[in-house]
Amino acid sequence: MSVKIPLTPIPVLNFVSGKFKAGTGNKISVHSPHNGALIGEVHQSTSADINDAVRAATIAQKEWAATPIKERTKVLFQLRQILLRDIDEIAHLKSSESGKTFQEGKAGLLKGIEVLEFATSLQNLDIGGKLEVSRGVSCEYRRSPLGVVASITPFNFPAMVPFWTIPTALALGNAYIWKPSEKTPLTSMKIAQALQEAGLPDGVFQVLQGEASVAQALLDHNDVKAVSFVGSTPVARAVYERGTKAGKRVLALGGAKNHIVLLPDANPEMAGVGISDSFTGCAGQRCMAAAVLLAVGDVELHIKKITARASSLELGKDMGAIISPKQISFLHEQIEKAVAGGATILLDGRKAQPPPGMTQGNWIGPTILDHVSPAQEISKMELFGPVLCIIRCKDISEAMKVENDSEMGNACAVFSSSGALAEKVISLASTGMVGVNVGVPVPREPFSFGGVNQSKFGHGDITGTSSLDFWSNLKKVTVKWDQQHDNNWMS
Ligand code: NAD
Repeated sequence: MSVKIPLTPIPVLNFVSGKFKAGTGNKISVHSPHNGALIGEVHQSTSADINDAVRAATIAQKEWAATPIKERTKVLFQLRQILLRDIDEIAHLKSSESGKTFQEGKAGLLKGIEVLEFATSLQNLDIGGKLEVSRGVSCEYRRSPLGVVASITPFNFPAMVPFWTIPTALALGNAYIWKPSEKTPLTSMKIAQALQEAGLPDGVFQVLQGEASVAQALLDHNDVKAVSFVGSTPVARAVYERGTKAGKRVLALGGAKNHIVLLPDANPEMAGVGISDSFTGCAGQRCMAAAVLLAVGDVELHIKKITARASSLELGKDMGAIISPKQISFLHEQIEKAVAGGATILLDGRKAQPPPGMTQGNWIGPTILDHVSPAQEISKMELFGPVLCIIRCKDISEAMKVENDSEMGNACAVFSSSGALAEKVISLASTGMVGVNVGVPVPREPFSFGGVNQSKFGHGDITGTSSLDFWSNLKKVTVKWDQQHDNNWMS
């Protein structure tokens, strides 16, 4: 199904105290990557708008925190139904602003709904713990919310990435302020509407539109207790430093440069599909996309299969568009530089034709560069486009040296039919997530998502059980009701 792109620009508004209202700052435009059409106008938030939102959230959070968790998660159960009911409409909207295909838009929302399902289970799973620690004395854990928390998200997953944090933070009794990417802000209004329809009290969920200055004001605000961030590495680092300096709890996920180790004993069909889909899915604009193929030994057949599958993709149908014309120029420039530095081209996406009627959009086809050297810039920097660099390696040790030299640490995968060789790659990989014959090793719930090194600043993962500790405090209560006179709680 082709993506339905809004025909007239949608005013992109804040959502504060249960009402949509325009931010009082200047306006910025949102263009669809598919055809360049103006599809939205963002009314940016000013510091007055931000203060109003934080004030309203602070008041609403108190009552929300006092609501039993079973009632809080009821709202999330309802939200799940609404999102599934409206999934096509949301998928069209998020695809039209991010460049995804309709199917990718739908898949991203479904992955977000998995985290929502995890959060709905907290009412049964996160029941604390209590133990009689000595005669007549018990200790117990109680989880308490932090208060008002905030989240800053990137353009590439307008619903899935926010859903890594919205359900859990809300289930645990926090009020949540979201600053979506200014490049893909339209979806945020649908999500706010869905939460309201699900019965979330006004003020518990707020959306503030705008660019970096809005994120920075949230990071500086005294009444915001914790901030999660997902985006590029330089910004993640800056956000982490700014937020922690202001005394906040911060978890900031950054960029990636993911490696795939391809061994000669890999199943050629599996490798062809898995590796091609990894670097071309979402047009390479995902933090789990394959960027470097470490081709160990004779893997010519596998590379032919990867190239054949990638070259068969139809733009607009099987692969989406790139976020901006600036990013297209950047990708062209990097490909040219790599070729000038000695790389050869197996597949040149610069020659690909845009889909019919979409010539004003930002299109590039899958590109495969062979014989790239590990020293070249293109082997190290994050490109965020459908470009696969092949580095030839004589053995696994040489391949893992290249992988280990990367500053990033999101994902690594190995394609092989040998458990022992795959195990070697798993143990040597310097990443938070590893795949075996899986090109995009995103852990499914309840396994948590998160990288290491320059792909993550802060402790713990953004989903799964460690996210519970991020969005709450553990209160330890020691109780003695037994009227014993001696004061020895160790008795
Ligand atoms: P970005 O870093 O440019 O922007 C992300 C968010 O930060 C946006 O909301 C933006 O408005 C805000 N921002 C920008 N500058 C800021 C500043 N100085 N201070 C505070 N906030 C600021 O990222 P992007 O281009 O929107 O997204 C693509 C990047 O996100 C890629 O690098 C990709 O790898 C990364 N990403 C990482 C993950 C992950 O899980 N590690 C997931 C998705 C995307």
